Amino acid sequence: MSDAILVINAGSSSSKFSVFGTEGGLHMITKGQVEGIGVGIQPHFSATNAAGETVADELWPSFEVGKRHSSLLRLLIDWIEGHLNGATLRAVGHRVVHGGSGFAAPVVVTPDVIDELNGLIPLAPLHQPHNIGPIATLHDLHPDLQQVACFDTAFHTTKRNEASLLGLPRKYLDAGVRRYGFHGLSYEYIAHALTEIAPDVAKGRVVIAHLGSGASMCAIKDGKSVDSSMGFTAVDGLMMGTRTGSLDPGVVLHMVQAEGMDGKALEKLLYKDSGLLGVSGGISNDMRVLLESDDPNAREAVDLFVYRIAKEIGALAMAIGGIDALVFTAGIGEHSAEIRKRVIEQAAWMGITLSPAANDTHGPCLTTPDSPVSAWAIPTNEELMIARHTQALIFGA
Ligand code: ADP
Repeated sequence: MSDAILVINAGSSSSKFSVFGTEGGLHMITKGQVEGIGVGIQPHFSATNAAGETVADELWPSFEVGKRHSSLLRLLIDWIEGHLNGATLRAVGHRVVHGGSGFAAPVVVTPDVIDELNGLIPLAPLHQPHNIGPIATLHDLHPDLQQVACFDTAFHTTKRNEASLLGLPRKYLDAGVRRYGFHGLSYEYIAHALTEIAPDVAKGRVVIAHLGSGASMCAIKDGKSVDSSMGFTAVDGLMMGTRTGSLDPGVVLHMVQAEGMDGKALEKLLYKDSGLLGVSGGISNDMRVLLESDDPNAREAVDLFVYRIAKEIGALAMAIGGIDALVFTAGIGEHSAEIRKRVIEQAAWMGITLSPAANDTHGPCLTTPDSPVSAWAIPTNEELMIARHTQALIFGA
């Protein structure tokens, strides 16, 4: 009988899942999400099959206080076991935002690992608890299911040393206030995909732009991360859908001293109210809406988004001593020919010559054959990356 692997990407108000079969190579069986998770709310469960057809779209009973993870996981595992096409669920891979300095690779979950992950909560208080909750709960509910934790930070543990430091007193650096970098599972997937799509490029100096609702960039050399635009937290670097990205730290001081903001208000400002949404004057955090808008604030938000990416290409090329290729991925990077065109136009001085026809049809190669630096659009697949790690650690495949 064939095996199945469940991949969980758990968040604060929604959780995504994918199920992969292992027979004949990893392949997706079903994927979906549970949205609207909160006390007193009926969560909305939806799922599609491998062909993208809807196989579930229903409201679940609301979860009781303190039973969120156990109720959700019971319902989810029950549903999945009824939709496995004859396979047996054997392992679960989890996306975990923070592995600190210690976890340089995915790890099989044990009680000690859960303790260590709990110890990292202060480094990512908004995400880490939601990632650990299902791991700890499944450990109790289904001790037979082996679990693997895959970290967004792990890929970046190869970064050059200076790229991990901040200009702070040593005691804070020693306490873990360092630049870690995130979206590592996406960058790892792309680095691997490049070895198949463009093997020569994969060995070179590559800047990858992961442009989703969260956005960051990474400089890789010979397939390894050297530096990244995100640092201590996932609010650093590029301007994003609702996050500021890098901000003069004096602005934070100003908000405290002149506007009287406390920690909660600052968190909301930095993570939820800013970025494309904030600069557009509240029009949208969705790039598609902004690109269609004639509003000058929407245009300015897009201009700033593009400029920040272009500037970061220069900074990251510096980190790896030049650039051989630029890769776009995630929602905006994979689908928006307009944003790619505008970024590449600003980076043309680096020797990147766009092929408009290739860009309009999403590549994968976006540049002319004689372009000294190539550009690419490559779809990312963090879930498949997690499934691969889980398969390798649990089944040794
Ligand atoms: P997440 O980071 O939530 O996983 P995605 O990688 O799916 O997000 O990216 C979401 C973003 O992609 C949204 O801002 C959305 O507007 C943008 N996006 C998706 N399709 C397009 C498109 N065709 N053109 C421009 N932006 C797009």
